[in-house]
Order: sequence, then C-alpha cells, then structure tokens
Amino acid sequence: MRTQVGIVGGGPAGIVLSHLLHLQGIESVVLEDRSRDYVEKRIRAGVLEQGTVDLLIESGVGDRMKKEGMVHHGIELRFGGQGHRIPLSDLAGGRAITIYGQHEVVKDLIRARLDAGGEIVFEAEDVSVHDLESQRPTIRFRKDGEDQELTCDVIAGCDGFHGVCRPSIPDGVLTVYERKYPFAWLGILVEAPPSSEELIYSYHEHGFALHSMRSPELTRLYIQCDPDEDIGDWSDERIWKELHTRFATEDDWTLNEGPILETGKGITPMRSFLVEPMQYGRLFLAGDAAHVVTPTGAKGMNLAIADVRVLVRALGEFYESGRTDLLDRYSETCLRRVWFAQRFSWWMTSMLHRFDGDNDFQHRLQLTELDYVTSSRVAATTLAENYVGLPMDF
Ligand SMILES: Cc1cc2nc3c(=O)[nH]c(=O)nc-3n(C[C@H](O)[C@H](O)[C@H](O)COP(=O)(O)OP(=O)(O)OC[C@H]3O[C@@H](n4cnc5c(N)ncnc54)[C@H](O)[C@@H]3O)c2cc1C
Repeated sequence: MRTQVGIVGGGPAGIVLSHLLHLQGIESVVLEDRSRDYVEKRIRAGVLEQGTVDLLIESGVGDRMKKEGMVHHGIELRFGGQGHRIPLSDLAGGRAITIYGQHEVVKDLIRARLDAGGEIVFEAEDVSVHDLESQRPTIRFRKDGEDQELTCDVIAGCDGFHGVCRPSIPDGVLTVYERKYPFAWLGILVEAPPSSEELIYSYHEHGFALHSMRSPELTRLYIQCDPDEDIGDWSDERIWKELHTRFATEDDWTLNEGPILETGKGITPMRSFLVEPMQYGRLFLAGDAAHVVTPTGAKGMNLAIADVRVLVRALGEFYESGRTDLLDRYSETCLRRVWFAQRFSWWMTSMLHRFDGDNDFQHRLQLTELDYVTSSRVAATTLAENYVGLPMDF
C-alpha cells in the first residue's frame, strides 16, 4: 500500500488531519487500533475554543455542532460558598466557547471522511513505524490476520500519549518536560439536565469540583481525588455527597442528580507533559502524542487540532512547491502555542486544586488569587483570553 501521509491514530488529531489534507487534495490513510464504535463513544473533552469551532465550520463539518453544540459566553468560579461569573465574551472581544463532546467531533469527522471515500483502517493491530529518516517511511500493521505495509512520504503520529510513534524516536533525540500532580479527576456522566447554564469551577477545602455538560440532558461532573484511588471505592452515594459539599453555596442553588452512566466514569491522573522537538525525520507528532495538559484549562483537544492546522499548512507547501521550510519549522511553530497552553492549564490547576500537605498559607494564597481574578477586569481578561483560545496567529 502507498499513500502520501500515513496517519497513526484516529482521535481528534488524526481524523481532523485526514479531513483537512483531503480538502487540499493530499491523500492519507488513517490507522486506528480501536473499533469505530469504540472511538465514537469514548467520552473525553467537551469544550471547543472559538478557533476550533471556526475551523470545523470553515472546513464543512460544523453543521451538527452548530445545531447541537451549546455556545457559552461565560464560566463561573465558585469559592467561599459564592459564585462569580467571568464574562468570557465581553472580555475576549466576543469570542466564546462551544460545548460539544469530543466523541461527537470524531463522529462527524469519521462520517465526512468515509463519505468522501477516505480510508480509515479500524482495528489495525501491532502498528509500528519504520525508516523515519528516509524519504519513504513505512508503517507496518496487521489487519484481519494479514501483515500489511504502508509506504508514505510523511508519517503523522497522532496516536495519543500511550501510542507507538513517540517511543519510536531514537533515545537522546527528545527532551521530555513533565510534571505529575498529587491528584486526579474522578469524572462521571449523569443522565440529568445541567444544574447551571454555564460551567462551574469550584474550589473547596475538600478539593476541586467541576460542573460541565454534554447536552441539555447530560451533565458531566468531576471531583479531585487521589491519583491511586480505586474507582470501586467510590459508590454513587459517596460521589454525590462529595459533589454536594464542594458545590454548596449560600443561596438556594441545587445540584441535579440522576443515574450515573457507566460510560465516562473513570479516574484520570493529572499530568503536564511535552517533548521537544515534535518531529524526527519524516515523523511529525501531533496532539497528545507530543503533549498532555491538565484538563483544567480545557485545552487538550483544541491543542491537538491547532497542531494539525500547522502541519496541514506545511504539507500543503511541501506538495505544492517541494519546499520544506514550514515542515522544518513545524515543531517550533507548534511549541509556542503548546507552552502557552501548558502555562494556562498549570495556572488554572494551581489556583483551583487542594495540594497534598496544603498549609493555610497556600490555601489563603489560592483564595486571594480567585478573589483577584473575579474582581479585577484585567486579571479576568487574561483568563478569558486564554480560555476561549488565543488566536491562531498569536
Ligand atoms: C481519559 C481521558 C480523559 C480526558 N478528559 C478530558 C476532559 O475532560 N477535558 C479535556 O479538555 N481534555 C480531556 N482529555 C484530553 C483530550 O481528550 C485529549 O487532549 C485529546 O483526546 C487529544 O487528541 P489526540 O487525537 O491527540 O489523542 P487521542 O484522543 O488520545 O487519540 C489517539 C488515537 O490513537 C489511537 N491509538 C493509540 N495507540 C495506537 C496505535 N499503536 N496504533 C493505532 N492507533 C493508536 C487511540 O485509540 C486514539 O483513537 C482527556 C484525555 C484522556 C486520556
């Protein structure tokens, strides 16, 4: 088999890349180790930056998102039993966020690719990448028991944090930056209408909690917990008790309860991670394969799509004129935005979580930070500008 761009991974990065390349007349094949059903139901992120929304609409895959996505113009920061609204759009020149599940984005893109005759190989086994320094890198995999080889001009490693592409880069090439946090998020998906029209980020002595949503009928809730906790130790009763405590206000706000769905229930450790450079020979890493941000800033999927946008532009130049300037600068171009997102996600995480062995000084500093962000227009503007997403050409 032969293609121009071999894409490992059919998550948001891989599938958006394949779609945008197709619009430029560039061929690709996506190799995904899971089934179509699995990737279309995998509950993860749900906050789309303005730039992500614009890109999906401009590239012709935004129709369902425009109908079903929920546009939000603010978020709430809650602490000391009181809510404080950050009017994102007022502060960030009218830009907003859209709530639309990552799996819905993936579903729309898979359909668009298949309708356009695109090739996505689901349940590709034992995927491995080779000859990365050559002009003809290859991807080997097994499908339906048969070994296959795909020869490409370029390989895009869009296979997430646990994928095979990043570890295939020889030792000593990558510099790894990493921070592990002493906490995780326990996430649940609840069959109940959201209890607020906007997201609520709550800081409480017991730890952080987030109220989000996926649709008018589905609420997504998270609580900070220890990273090595067993989800089995968290009964529904215990989860609800903790949520009610952490969201409690002095007014009559109430949290809607409902059945907790098994899908979407899990514990995700908090980590910041990135590698430099994001490329080696003819292999280009995009999305979680190259970097992981803490989800507090809602940047993971948006950043994956921002990488892909840079890669598409570089590949467009490469196929049009044979020039490799933009490809050579791919990593450098992406990393500036990645570091901005790392900084913002780290800042939100530090402000909103209880740290192990917290002392009162740390606690009071965090409350002061929250007080400042919610009372100073300048401070709130820096939050808003980052939350809705820095412009692509920032
Ligand atoms: C459990 C979890 C929960 C998250 N929750 C949130 C959240 O609530 N809010 C938020 O903002 N962000 C969240 N994120 C982050 C966000 O979902 C990611 O940043 C986003 O998915 C990145 O997209 P990606 O395409 O780079 O990687 P991924 O979505 O990880 O996609 C990688 C794809 O590659 C496939 N793959 C892996 N290995 C191979 C292989 N060897 N061969 C072929 N295919 C392979 C995988 O099956 C997957 O489909 C979460 C991430 C995780 C892991």
